[in-house]
Amino acid sequence: MPALEELGWDADWASALEQLQHDNLIPARIAAQHRGGYVVWSADGELRARAAGRLFYDHEVGEPIPAVGDWVGVETTGDAATITSILPRRSAFIRKRAGLGSDEQVLAANVDTAFLLAGLDDDFSLRRLERYITTAWDSGAEPVVVLTKADLCADVGAALLEVETVAIGVPVYPISNVTGTGVDELAAQLRPGRTIVLLGSSGVGKSSLLNRLAGTEVMRTSAVAADGTGRHTTTHRELVRLPGAALAIDTPGLRELQFWEGDLTAAFEDIELLAAECRFRDCAHATEPGCAVLAAVDAGTLELDRLRSWRKLQRELESIAARTGLSVHRVNECLRLLRKHACIHSRGGTEDGAPVYVLNRS
Ligand code: GDP
Ligand code: ZN
Repeated sequence: MPALEELGWDADWASALEQLQHDNLIPARIAAQHRGGYVVWSADGELRARAAGRLFYDHEVGEPIPAVGDWVGVETTGDAATITSILPRRSAFIRKRAGLGSDEQVLAANVDTAFLLAGLDDDFSLRRLERYITTAWDSGAEPVVVLTKADLCADVGAALLEVETVAIGVPVYPISNVTGTGVDELAAQLRPGRTIVLLGSSGVGKSSLLNRLAGTEVMRTSAVAADGTGRHTTTHRELVRLPGAALAIDTPGLRELQFWEGDLTAAFEDIELLAAECRFRDCAHATEPGCAVLAAVDAGTLELDRLRSWRKLQRELESIAARTGLSVHRVNECLRLLRKHACIHSRGGTEDGAPVYVLNRS
């Protein structure tokens, strides 16, 4: 097992663990999640662990359940390892389930860099790439655009110019998994202890690239159960170690993530749904007659706090737009930045667990 530092451990994580003031906790990183529990990597090696019931109870009031990539505090007694706490995440890729609640699933935690793959073949879509970039900013990870299948593109330079119109401030790497062009330049983005994910639609070249970066076929392996019974359990690690001590997270959930929700509309889905019922299409939900949003607040089905957050954000947005003359598209980008720079956050606030969105600045 590598040193914890090679798994991404650093002084900030150490002090986060210290703050828990719990002597018997050892740090570990979640390498895989299975139906029966977790595989974690610690300084003592690979352990099978279960999440403490308390964690799931806390989930009810907005605490996260462990996800691949999480740094956790583990208690061991004999052969049994129990995850009793999750260190606050630096980033998270989250799938929000449909509906008004806060039913969210964390697909990958503590990702430093998101490689966003788009193919330079017929399948190329700037709008989709834009959504990927949004999702990456929202997660807290740094986006890097990777244009695969450069070998199939007659004019890579022209494609690059197009991509740069939506990938502002984001590095862009054209590569080919077939010829290997550009892969070394991209691999220079990998750093010891840094965690990446590869995102992109099916067939774009995620597996091919991951295998190239790993320098080997990253295959599903068979491991012996940690309880020493010698029972073989077919399993695989979703946290993958790459050469040079970088790491990649590759979970089925991430691969299935086709639906990219990253804009404010998604974050305020409940208000957007209600707004569709307002009498006026451009209702500002302030004093307008026939406003379904205000009616919901009156009826107690929408937190006033939530409407306030939405309004504040709209004002923020409008003032940015007015100051800069941004298009709708650019305005959305500003919103992403607001989230990225932690100007807004959400917390589980209402009794039914619905998140309340809060501005960090007044
Ligand atoms: P994934 O679904 O995103 O994991 O995509 P794969 O890595 O499985 O690749 C899908 C198909 O595209 C395979 O047939 C690959 O050989 C092919 N492919 C992947 N990358 C490239 C590339 O850079 N150039 C070309 N021509 N084909 C590629
Ligand atoms: Zn309204």
